[in-house]
Amino acid sequence: MSEMTEQPKKSLNFIETLVEEDIRDGKNGGRIQTRFPPEPNGYLHIGHAKAICMDFGIARDYNGVCNLRFDDTNPVKEDVEYVDSIMEDIQWLGYQWGNVYYASDYFQQLWDFATDLIKRGLAYVDEQSAEEIAKQKGSPTVPGTESPYRNRPVEESLELFNKMNSGEIAEGAMVLRAKVDMASPNMHFRDPIMYRIITDHPHHRTGYTWKAYPMYDFAHGQSDYFEGVTHSICTLEFEVHRPLYDWFIDQLKNDDYRPRQIEFNRLNITYTVMSKRKMLQLVQEGLVRGWDDPRMPTLCGLRRRGYTPEAIHNFIEKIGYTKYEGIIDVSLLEHSAREILNSTATRVSAVLDPVKLILTNYPEGQTETVTMVNNPEDENEGTHEAPFSKELYVERDDFMEDAPKKYFRMTPGQEVRLKGAYIVKCTGCKKDADGKVTEVYAEYDPETRSGLEGSSRKVKGTIHWVTVADSVSAEVRLYDRLFAVENPAEEKDKDFRELLNPDSLKVLNNVKVEPWLKNAKALDNFQFQRIGYFNVDPDSTPENLVFNRTVSLKDSWAKANK
Ligand code: ATP
Ligand code: MG
Repeated sequence: MSEMTEQPKKSLNFIETLVEEDIRDGKNGGRIQTRFPPEPNGYLHIGHAKAICMDFGIARDYNGVCNLRFDDTNPVKEDVEYVDSIMEDIQWLGYQWGNVYYASDYFQQLWDFATDLIKRGLAYVDEQSAEEIAKQKGSPTVPGTESPYRNRPVEESLELFNKMNSGEIAEGAMVLRAKVDMASPNMHFRDPIMYRIITDHPHHRTGYTWKAYPMYDFAHGQSDYFEGVTHSICTLEFEVHRPLYDWFIDQLKNDDYRPRQIEFNRLNITYTVMSKRKMLQLVQEGLVRGWDDPRMPTLCGLRRRGYTPEAIHNFIEKIGYTKYEGIIDVSLLEHSAREILNSTATRVSAVLDPVKLILTNYPEGQTETVTMVNNPEDENEGTHEAPFSKELYVERDDFMEDAPKKYFRMTPGQEVRLKGAYIVKCTGCKKDADGKVTEVYAEYDPETRSGLEGSSRKVKGTIHWVTVADSVSAEVRLYDRLFAVENPAEEKDKDFRELLNPDSLKVLNNVKVEPWLKNAKALDNFQFQRIGYFNVDPDSTPENLVFNRTVSLKDSWAKANK
């Protein structure tokens, strides 16, 4: 590319800066390899998207490769259902991995390395209980106490380590620990546990072959090393684990290559939870409809809600990567979706709370066709046609019998434009015995049809409508925040389930939409004019249309950040 045509380079985040330094210094021969390492114990959420965009983005931008590695070292919680959904979600975001790896593929290599560490006097089998071990840990300012098993003969540890894996030893009776430094100011150096026994849960790939399972700290760095990862990017809570990560690599490596761990801030969002344990509880206890409930922060939930991959990427670009923990306002996520949907979603008419409007001077039995612009932001999106006739539905709150001065919609004596059609003057209404409005009346002005020569007369209000005869009934699901409090994780003295927002789902069953929507397909995005962005729920059928509200039109984030 010549200087002239080169795109202006966006400024680098701190991870890209470190990666570019490593390339400049010729580290690992300039090679770039990353991995995305989910544990297959749940569905991916928007926080994972942040990690995915980094891991795959670095590989893409620096001619490297990003592999997908399932961190499957805990058979108790893992399942193939999760493996499949994780793959689907990554591809939905537009990424493709180089290889698929499983930490469980390295069980033998890890075992061999652990055995080697025992032989070198750097690991030992400890027969104390978890409580005893915890008690001896000390605190950051008080050194720990050495285990009575710490200096047992190598042969004894080797024999017991084999027994830990053969089923002869009960769960919890023994662990393998690294022999590092019980007085280290870094708690992770105080003889960390490398292996534990799990006997009664088959592993989703290795079945009952293994009974001794490696801990995260022992498996993760070594897996990076076996694969040739150059940059192992993870979240900030692993920063304090990094010295141990490096210590194991030092014991393992026998060449110039070494993986480098870099940490960034985890994504937290207001009014939701992103712990897989808590999300699983919501699903299992039926507090949401499933992992893909549109109120969930999961990628499948957001997808069902009407978020597109572009909307997710837009959000991830806005939040960036730093070294500081924080919580992002959910209205920024919504704003990010709105920005994308505004330029892509087709405008349609839907009346959520219908009341009949009768144009008393419009010829009985007449129907005409009006042309609706699909997207005023993009001429290429074209137009579609909508029928217009004497009896229409409009929103109940677009009529007021006694309106205040600044009410520019329908009130007796006032003119309003029916979107894409005529100016009408409201003449009155009919009410039932309870005083509820059942019909609104107006007279139309045939000279004012939109697009007609000389129809430039202006009125202050424009309202949307559908015809009574041709409109289609639909169900609309209105979603609100899943939790009633800003940061559910922070309310330590309450069970998070008590903090759920009881009004997070409201179902409207009598919505009227324009007939053109009959052909809409699952997940198609629309703007219901004047209301918000909606998409077609997978539950929808041509006979029973179902829409989800993705976001309303009102942008609280933009308003607060003007
Ligand atoms: P949980 O603790 O809820 O099980 P996890 O962090 O253990 O979640 P993993 O499947 O281990 O989930 O995560 C895979 C990758 O995604 C890791 O590199 C992790 O750091 C990253 N990740 C997970 N949650 C977030 C988040 N909220 N923001 C950014 N990255 C995240
Ligand atoms: Mg994890």
